[in-house]
Amino acid sequence: MAKIEKVQIAGGGIAGLTAGLALSRQGIDVEIHERADHLQGRATGFSIWAFAIKRLMEWGFDRERLDAIGQEIVESHIVDDQDRPLLTLPIHEASTESGAPSMDVDRRLLQEALIEAIGPERYRFGSEVVGVQHDDGRIALALADGGCAFGDLVLGGDGIHSIVRDQALGQSVDLKRSRYAVIEGIADLDPDRLPAGHHKQVWGRKARFGVGWVGEGRARWFIGGRSIALADDPELSRDELLERVAGLPEIVAATIAATPEDQIVRTDVRHGYPPKRWHDDRVVLLGDAAHTLSPFAGMGACSTIEDVAHLVRLLGERDDLADALAAFQGEREGDVTRIEKTGRRNELMMMPSNGLLYWTRNALFSHTPDEKLMEIAAGMTSGEG
Ligand SMILES: Cc1cc2nc3c(=O)[nH]c(=O)nc-3n(C[C@H](O)[C@H](O)[C@H](O)COP(=O)(O)OP(=O)(O)OC[C@H]3O[C@@H](n4cnc5c(N)ncnc54)[C@H](O)[C@@H]3O)c2cc1C
Repeated sequence: MAKIEKVQIAGGGIAGLTAGLALSRQGIDVEIHERADHLQGRATGFSIWAFAIKRLMEWGFDRERLDAIGQEIVESHIVDDQDRPLLTLPIHEASTESGAPSMDVDRRLLQEALIEAIGPERYRFGSEVVGVQHDDGRIALALADGGCAFGDLVLGGDGIHSIVRDQALGQSVDLKRSRYAVIEGIADLDPDRLPAGHHKQVWGRKARFGVGWVGEGRARWFIGGRSIALADDPELSRDELLERVAGLPEIVAATIAATPEDQIVRTDVRHGYPPKRWHDDRVVLLGDAAHTLSPFAGMGACSTIEDVAHLVRLLGERDDLADALAAFQGEREGDVTRIEKTGRRNELMMMPSNGLLYWTRNALFSHTPDEKLMEIAAGMTSGEG
């Protein structure tokens, strides 16, 4: 095992928190520095596929704790603009092969559960990282309050605009800005609108929408596309958003209408291929800091959790720290480059830009044989698709 007693982590999102949990379970002392002074007030959610849920289970999340942060996806129903079925994916069946459920999860509840599991005393709210300093064989995070936090290793889990990546490793990333904004939220949805265990997506010509249960009566949703809001468009009120979804299946407007206006979140999405180098001798990047994946892949958080599992295993297996960090990048960069490529391809398939493509896709997809549906579901839930 590489000789590490203390790890300083920049960023308290999914990367920082899951790394904090997995490392502390190995007996390593961690300190997590989060710039924000509280968790995001407006809740959003995401889908976490079985391979990543399995990692959370390995780090102590039992079924009770999982059920407190989200709900299992049993089937994923994909329809077109007119609510005509395109694909029905057997997510539960495919997930069983991975040994864990796939879930829609409330991001804030997941973060709270992770902080609780690590120990709140290790999580520093309002602690902004402004740089990284090498000091006589040790390494430190330089903090905005003028302090320094020393350790044997620094993890850069500080997201898409990572200071650790840009400053400490001198790496920049060519980020592609998505043409569309993504709007999301958590609705108090009438249970008659969506059967329990269902995740539903509308793959329209000019908009893509998704909704799935994260708890009793609470469903997380997202929508984006050129008929909804371009990246530079001004903020939309809920009524304006409802006008823009008027031609889409009823569940879209019902979900948005069931979300308090001040709880609707708009995100400007950026993504790009990973930087060349994710590490030096005592610094390593994880999650979005290392790879900001296309929203059409829907795998950013899952890949982040997988990063942590690989890194912690390698730190345990290798005696030399620099060797473990180099091996980590070697193991992960192929996977995330493949996922980014798939995401870029998915954009065309999920929101075809012209009528002929849209019609052809619908005709092909609505006749997909059961074995192919299983193969697609298995690819998503195992992270290998
Ligand atoms: C609309 C949308 C939908 C998504 N849906 C899915 C999905 O269904 N499935 C999936 O797997 N992924 C999904 N993702 C991707 C997923 O959200 C990200 O990949 C994941 O959150 C990355 O985690 P992270 O910890 O690396 O980064 P972040 O979540 O961005 O966390 C970084 C943290 O670092 C903090 N920070 C930044 N700078 C500093 C600093 N200088 N000092 C201290 N702290 C700092 C930030 O405040 C933040 O808390 C989605 C993303 C978006 C935008």
